[in-house]
Amino acid sequence: MANSDYQHVLNEITAEVQPLLSQGKVADYIPALAEVDANQFSIAIYTTDGQTFCAGECTQRFTIQSVSKVMTLTLALQRYGDELWQRVGKEPSGTAFNSLTQLEFEKGVPRNPFINAGAIVTCDALYSRLSAPMHSMLEAFRTLSGNKTIVIDKKVANSEYEFRHRNAAMGHLMKSFGNFHNEVDDVLWAYFNFCAIELNCVELAKAYNFLANKGLCHLSDKRVLSSLQTKQLNSLLFTSGLYDAAGDFGYRVGMPGKSGVSGTILAVLPGKFTVAVYSPGLNSYGNSVAGIAALELLSKKLDISIF
Ligand code: GLU
Repeated sequence: MANSDYQHVLNEITAEVQPLLSQGKVADYIPALAEVDANQFSIAIYTTDGQTFCAGECTQRFTIQSVSKVMTLTLALQRYGDELWQRVGKEPSGTAFNSLTQLEFEKGVPRNPFINAGAIVTCDALYSRLSAPMHSMLEAFRTLSGNKTIVIDKKVANSEYEFRHRNAAMGHLMKSFGNFHNEVDDVLWAYFNFCAIELNCVELAKAYNFLANKGLCHLSDKRVLSSLQTKQLNSLLFTSGLYDAAGDFGYRVGMPGKSGVSGTILAVLPGKFTVAVYSPGLNSYGNSVAGIAALELLSKKLDISIF
């Protein structure tokens, strides 16, 4: 299928998922997210040759939540390389994104960098190597998406920090096992700010396009990761990017992906494009109902898959 068909397909998908917008439930464990209108949808493709296609409310920004974990891992891999894997594993967790149980059995080493415990320990590693973590993270998104106006939604960051108890418990448990080196609250403040970065679907697809382009950012002409690291990161996204629903997502969509509790999902078709979708209504796994349906439709209509 030619690139020119992408716009047509995105328009079709946007129309087809409308009945699903009322089916999910917005995340309410973060009070500031509970106020979001569930009835929203947008989807954008950014191709490795620099073309943008978008349908729905394309300019609507949202906090990217767990999709920030991919950038946290990227910045940590840039600084630590494979040494990072002494602090966090590479296996699917099979448990909820905010589960604490495996940490106890696995001596404070989280299963993978995309569940909360794994992202928080990766953040701790990054915190040790960055003098201004929030600034560095914002700059990464601004440079890679080509948009200097990207900011952090402080209301969401503050709301998450106020209700941080579960994430704080993970940090303290990891610290008790010696796998946490900074003050838990300092690292959590950085982590929540990363989660509260606001982008729209076009910006999100652009920011992560290096994942579809062997580690090279087309917009800034910067190498973000090596080709090998990019392949490795995409592999981890495929096995662990959607928490305990990664298998179902992989089966239905056939691409590596990462979801966030704001209702966004990023997926990667290596060599071709990144696609970002946003719709805040979530299923019981914390993944966007319309977002997953839209990516499944995209995969079918374009007959695409990494396999
Ligand atoms: N900021 C959220 C949390 O830590 C991220 C969770 C998610 O998007 O999965 O609970």
